[in-house]
Amino acid sequence: MNLVVLGSGTSVPHPQRTAAGFWLETETGSLLLDCGADAPHRLAAEHLDWPNLAAIWISHLHLDHCGGLASFLFGTKHAPQTQGRRKPLTIFGCRGIDKFLHSIDSVNNYRLLDQPFPVELREITVAEEFEILPDMRARVFSTPHTEESLAIRLTNRSGASLVYSSDTGYDEAFVEFARGVDLLILECSFWRDKPTPRHLDLAEAMRLARLAEPRKVVLTHLYFEWDGIDLEGKAKDLWPGETIAARDGLRLEIAT
Ligand SMILES: [Zn+2]
Ligand SMILES: [Zn+2]
Repeated sequence: MNLVVLGSGTSVPHPQRTAAGFWLETETGSLLLDCGADAPHRLAAEHLDWPNLAAIWISHLHLDHCGGLASFLFGTKHAPQTQGRRKPLTIFGCRGIDKFLHSIDSVNNYRLLDQPFPVELREITVAEEFEILPDMRARVFSTPHTEESLAIRLTNRSGASLVYSSDTGYDEAFVEFARGVDLLILECSFWRDKPTPRHLDLAEAMRLARLAEPRKVVLTHLYFEWDGIDLEGKAKDLWPGETIAARDGLRLEIAT
């Protein structure tokens, strides 16, 4: 499967980093992991096949992760590219995503789930394992960030795996969830002196990597504090494995 980083930043406006969004392409379909406000246009900028997107995952209700969902659905409802589409779209998300979309609907009678094609909305509870794409299983982990925030672990038929932490504070229970994964997309909001327990700094992110032993780590959700800092070099001092600093437009192949 192939990953395209749409947004490696946060809601704070930044000239190079847009809000969270990751495009994952597999043999049986594509999946959008989080949909920050910039993600819809970033899909087009990366020349991705957004009219055929099969599924969306929304990790939590902060707007740098879901702020683009309504505008994406407003786009697909009216875009010429999607008027002939019949393939269903499934939106999987944290608790509250249904209320989020219906609240926006109620302001202007958008009817965002009433699309040219069938749309299914599914709120995921922590206990269940589910099929997110025809060849891909998913399970989630409740992260210490907000009440509803979830990390997700994806495994395809050939065994290739990915964990996306989305936003999280430090919790060693996450280690078991991410154990041995092929690619760990881990938030690393701050270098040091983090102002909140609800995000990670570099030392914590690398401690999780050391304990979980992923094959590769991508550090993302980078606040402007990271500008001009050699993130990969500093990560190497703390964990000898391969760490990549996310940037908008980064492309990676994930294999077993
Ligand atoms: Zn958040
Ligand atoms: Zn965030």
